[in-house]
Amino acid sequence: MRRDFYQADHEAFRSAVRSFVQREVEPRHLEWDDAGHMDPGLWVTAGKQGLLGLAVPEEYGGGGVADYRYRCVISEELARVGAASVNSHMSLYDDLVLPYLLDLGTPEQKQRWLPALCSGRATPALAITEPGAGSDLRGISTRARRSGDGWVLNGGKTFITNGGHADVLIVVARTHPDGGADGFTLFLVEKDAPGFTAGRSLDKLGQRGENVAELFFDDVHVPVEAVLGTEGQAMRHLRDHLPTERTSIAVYALASAEAAFEWTLAHVRDRSVFGKAVAEFQHTRFELAEMRTELDITRAFMADAVLALNDMRLTPTDAAKAKWWATELQQRVISRCLQLHGGYGYIREYPIARAFVDARVQTIYGGTTEIMKDLIGRDLVRRR
Ligand SMILES: Cc1cc2nc3c(=O)[nH]c(=O)nc-3n(C[C@H](O)[C@H](O)[C@H](O)COP(=O)(O)OP(=O)(O)OC[C@H]3O[C@@H](n4cnc5c(N)ncnc54)[C@H](O)[C@@H]3O)c2cc1C
Repeated sequence: MRRDFYQADHEAFRSAVRSFVQREVEPRHLEWDDAGHMDPGLWVTAGKQGLLGLAVPEEYGGGGVADYRYRCVISEELARVGAASVNSHMSLYDDLVLPYLLDLGTPEQKQRWLPALCSGRATPALAITEPGAGSDLRGISTRARRSGDGWVLNGGKTFITNGGHADVLIVVARTHPDGGADGFTLFLVEKDAPGFTAGRSLDKLGQRGENVAELFFDDVHVPVEAVLGTEGQAMRHLRDHLPTERTSIAVYALASAEAAFEWTLAHVRDRSVFGKAVAEFQHTRFELAEMRTELDITRAFMADAVLALNDMRLTPTDAAKAKWWATELQQRVISRCLQLHGGYGYIREYPIARAFVDARVQTIYGGTTEIMKDLIGRDLVRRR
């Protein structure tokens, strides 16, 4: 990020995060990727270290500091060791679920879930996508109908990160069939609600340590108190909160591309072919120069986006720009870096090989590149 982006407090926090990552994550994350799941004890340790719920008020067990630069520090430190699965999971807390609870939760909902999540004793999920509704959310067909003193949910979700292990899930359901965009509501569903089941963990290309599952709702009864935010306003709530999720994906994209660049710089300096270091070839230096330039330019844009997010003036359009640009850059940079590693780049023992597959989903989840461009384009045309 820009030289003046981080201040002394952020750097002090970085030292603590770096030792957490070196101690708790680096020695074990490859094992977790191979096993297809992570050690849940990690979240309790992260909670104790104050790494979850950074923006949640201290009375609920959070850090009480709504400065997204601290989240950037965590993403950068996880990217340095290529722990993409761990990053996705930590992001679920601070970027995907806690912001909804903080902004929309009733005092009872906050009391029930914020301390448990901030301490890592509970894990969350955000369940929007369905087999027939990914990019086009109006296709959501999970239904919730009023029944007695609550609601009854029926339907299914797919691709839900941590869906198989979450203690609490924010679920989007259609509550008013003829309500158009005002016909959807957010619900808090607990994992032991009768009728709720999670399917097997989907066999993913990358980020293999993180669970991604299908979910099934078969007459799941929830009380009226399970409604999160305003009934019928799920789409507005999503629109207000998706910029944070998209910024978080963009931040990790840049951090991961930066890490790949550093691994590659070390590799091409060290590796000799035809009697000289790979770094000595003009082609290599041009590759490095182009990538460094694009990374620096992206850092400047991201720094502005993060500061705007801090001040609550980041527009959905600028978040969409950050998301598509940074994630596409991540894939270009990692692919070029892999090429500069030669055959070693294809061997999973090398972090660049794992970063290549872990990065692939970044242009897809949180809204695809095409959807980001559509959002930006529509905003431009509407304004004219
Ligand atoms: C590993 C992983 C984790 C995920 N985690 C979660 C999660 O925790 N919670 C959750 O709710 N969802 C999650 N998702 C789902 C993710 O957000 C969706 O996969 C994504 O939004 C795309 O939807 P889709 O897969 O249905 O693709 P589709 O919508 O079917 O898109 C197919 C293709 O059509 C293109 N396309 C669609 N509409 C347009 C258009 N208008 N113009 C041009 N092109 C278009 C898309 O860009 C894409 O290339 C996850 C997905 C993955 C793979």
